[in-house]
Amino acid sequence: MKDTTNDMTSTINQLIQLQELIIAKTQRLAASPQSNLSLLDENIASMRKCVAPKVLQDFDRLLQKSQIAIVPMEQGKCTACNMTLPVSLVHQVHAAEAIYHCPSCARLLFYRDADSSARNTRPPRKRTEAPKTGIAKFSSDALMVPDLEGKDAESVIRELAEKLKDAKYIDDAEKLVMAAMAREAVDSTALENGCAFPHARGIEGGALSFALGIAKKPIAFDSSKKASTQIVVLMVIPTAASTFYLKLIAGFNRVLMVEKNRDALLATDTPEKMWKTLVKLTAKDIP
Ligand SMILES: [Zn+2]
Repeated sequence: MKDTTNDMTSTINQLIQLQELIIAKTQRLAASPQSNLSLLDENIASMRKCVAPKVLQDFDRLLQKSQIAIVPMEQGKCTACNMTLPVSLVHQVHAAEAIYHCPSCARLLFYRDADSSARNTRPPRKRTEAPKTGIAKFSSDALMVPDLEGKDAESVIRELAEKLKDAKYIDDAEKLVMAAMAREAVDSTALENGCAFPHARGIEGGALSFALGIAKKPIAFDSSKKASTQIVVLMVIPTAASTFYLKLIAGFNRVLMVEKNRDALLATDTPEKMWKTLVKLTAKDIP
């Protein structure tokens, strides 16, 4: 019995990694259609070879319906569709002797300890507040950093994660740093145009959020490349928003591809001015 569980756990881990690679590819394409994808394609092909054909078939069928085929079960719920799962199924997913589907959205489920990842603790909108529009749905001036101190990916991600924690958007900055760095290891989110979009998916409990920082001097976000990154957007993404964040990245890219827009943002020196400039720049592309 023990062996079956171990096999199944490794299959589940392979599917999670495969999905991560496929999403990384989609994200590269959304951000810059001319990207070189050969290394990602190679990694996807070799990961596919590790998974049993029957499981792979099931996985591919689900991917045709949406970008997310395998999702964590947390606190007895499917994190993709939020359905409360039958108790017997919760036990089965936890035991992981086979791969189980969510009865509501059909996605594959895996067990994840709720304590292993940061939680989104963003306070809900007060009833007296007007509904937000544009990027105000995801961030605020408290999450703008006009002068990042860090000189590499991990240190700037940490500065932004601390901001998210201070503004009560997440409960644990270090867990967020770990998750975002694990994602960078799959494929760097730094783009040619000087922007980087580090993120952690599967952060449950609240809405998609981001913090944005500016490096006055370019930093080497991707340690294998020369220093070229100046704008860093750290996103916290619940599983259910895993498709939506790609639209947000595409919107940011349309705006930040334009040099004079990047320059306008880089010229700001306080969180308030940065936020005001960002709201103005993104009004059309992120409605
Ligand atoms: Zn579901």
